[in-house]
Amino acid sequence: MRHVTGYAAFEPDGQLRPLEFWRRDLRPDDVAVRVTHVGVCHSDLHAVEGLRSGAAPLVPGHEFTGEVTAVGPEVTGFRVGDRVAVGNVVDSCGRCPSCLAHREPYCLEFPQLTYGGVDRHDGTATQGAYSTEYVVRDAFVYALPGDLDPAAAAPLMCAGVTTWSPLRRAGVGPGQAVGVVGAGGLGHLAVRFAKALGAEVVVFTTSPDKAEAARRLGADDVVVSRDEVAMTARAGSLDVVVDTASAAHDLSPLLRTLRLDGRLVLLGLPDRLDVETMALLGRSLSVSGSGGSGEIREMLAFCGTHGIAADVEVLPLAEVNTAFRRLAAGDVRWRFVLDVAA
Ligand SMILES: [Zn+2]
Ligand SMILES: [Zn+2]
Repeated sequence: MRHVTGYAAFEPDGQLRPLEFWRRDLRPDDVAVRVTHVGVCHSDLHAVEGLRSGAAPLVPGHEFTGEVTAVGPEVTGFRVGDRVAVGNVVDSCGRCPSCLAHREPYCLEFPQLTYGGVDRHDGTATQGAYSTEYVVRDAFVYALPGDLDPAAAAPLMCAGVTTWSPLRRAGVGPGQAVGVVGAGGLGHLAVRFAKALGAEVVVFTTSPDKAEAARRLGADDVVVSRDEVAMTARAGSLDVVVDTASAAHDLSPLLRTLRLDGRLVLLGLPDRLDVETMALLGRSLSVSGSGGSGEIREMLAFCGTHGIAADVEVLPLAEVNTAFRRLAAGDVRWRFVLDVAA
């Protein structure tokens, strides 16, 4: 077994505290990764807030970068010292139509999550990357393109691919107009991707004070979503809208910004949806999960070519509780990343 130190939640809403624990010995197709940087995702916050007593202690963290420290005997794609990245799925059935299409987050047997999941082989609970080392099947390890900074690249593995996937599935490219709802951890990457893919980008935000920052990210236009006149002026103009807002909100005004056959894709997950049926006339609405292994490889190559990564504020792992408190208050531009070695 491999001795690891990390930070864990022990009770709902509680402070994370240091935890020493063990990772499994490497299976033939496993890779051990020394974690250097791990992004702080809203899911981590929600997992701690909603922690069930049987699930404690829980080590969060599912978007990370690091360096390979050991490989199992059947691993051919990685060597000790390689720079790698891992996202929010670490195994899946490999046989169902979703897995065969390399879209493992939609595995019909449910994917094995990086933390808060159950190992498919030994039934143990998975623990995340707010820790010094992670052991993961090679099929879910990704080479980090040479030029990408490992701190800024870590959020690509959840926030990044979650926005990359719907943009690519909508075929976003030159001549298209894309709306991004919410300028935050996901939204800022959606803006960068859509711009680099050649689209015109409109950011919808509830905070007028974010307008200037959104333009600096590359947004061609910023619309304050409470401004009915500005929303009406955008009616019928967009091909796809990617909605990253997690709080419940009325989707009807956003749907009306879409052209005929346009699509609104939700990435935040409010419990219930509020939408007028007529706003859906000739338009579609869907909820998108994270991206699979095929999309992760494609996104990382694109990021390497275009020099795209997240804007991050890096804190030492020991300051994880500060990151959580500030993230809950919306006080971050745009993603916290924890430096595990600091
Ligand atoms: Zn995440
Ligand atoms: Zn599957």
